[in-house]
Amino acid sequence: MSIKKGLWISLGLFILLVVAGIVFLLQPSGQVSDFQKWQYQAAENTSTSSRLKVKFFGVSTLLFDDGKTQILIDGFFTRPSLSQVLFQKIQSTPDVIRRMVQQQHLQRTQAILVTHSHYDHALDIAELGKQLPYTKIIGSNSTLNIARGGAVAEQQLIQVQPLHPMSFGEFTIMAIASQHTPPTTVNNDLGEEISRPLQQPARFFEFKEGHSFDYLIEHQGHKILVKASTSVIPNQLRDLKIDTLFLGIAQLSRQSTEFQQNYLNETLKTLKPKAVVPIHWDDFFKPVDQPLEFLPYLADNTDKSLKILIQATERHKIQVVLLSQPVSYPLELALQSPP
Ligand SMILES: [Zn+2]
Repeated sequence: MSIKKGLWISLGLFILLVVAGIVFLLQPSGQVSDFQKWQYQAAENTSTSSRLKVKFFGVSTLLFDDGKTQILIDGFFTRPSLSQVLFQKIQSTPDVIRRMVQQQHLQRTQAILVTHSHYDHALDIAELGKQLPYTKIIGSNSTLNIARGGAVAEQQLIQVQPLHPMSFGEFTIMAIASQHTPPTTVNNDLGEEISRPLQQPARFFEFKEGHSFDYLIEHQGHKILVKASTSVIPNQLRDLKIDTLFLGIAQLSRQSTEFQQNYLNETLKTLKPKAVVPIHWDDFFKPVDQPLEFLPYLADNTDKSLKILIQATERHKIQVVLLSQPVSYPLELALQSPP
């Protein structure tokens, strides 16, 4: 074999390996069905003592609804594909938002609480604000600049004030300053802000983090914490006890054992919830009307992240509830003891 032919074969093999590697990295990192035991199943005769329900739409989009008032966390419904995100400018899709408004009766949403300004949390804020002119949008100044870029009325916008409770119907909400998941090469912008109105379409990296927030939600004595990002400010939650924790686990498997233990101690052990609902584990490049899938290996090993969480909950005797989309989970179940 000539040297030239050998080189061509080597190059061919190299390209084949690269393609195989990319195909692997885009595969879901495990199967939701492997976690059947923890998946929420609606019981036939659930009591209706609590009217509060929550629906999960992937990432940290959660809709709390007591039949009268709704509170929406983030409200990310457009979910552009990976190739759109990588190679194009992205924008909220008014038709998707219109459909969600109709299907979920979002006219009853009094407030949208935004956890931070990355596009997988805040892309749809402006369109939601326009279609829901009576709804308040609560978030950092960066988040409000995303709304301003879509000409949302200024009286709808409330800049987040940590530790200041606000009431909406029977809900009391309070923001708590938080810490974003450790940066990766694509979101190494923590603390950076969107300093002027951001018009869409825009590139994904223009949606700067702009600081992160957890939200404490109280409803008729039931305390819920929504923590979208996989990190904590040390001791930030130490004086808090809650019933239900919505806990971000994105990229938990990618962190050191020390980081994982610290994160789970500062959340599960400190907050002592009766139930924990993992969030931010799904492949958010898939449309909102498809069943949730685990993040691709490119972004995380969700199978491993979930197992790390489950192992810790067993130590602390906390019930894990895995929600698949779009499921209505009555929060009264959180008050039952683990099976
Ligand atoms: Zn983020």
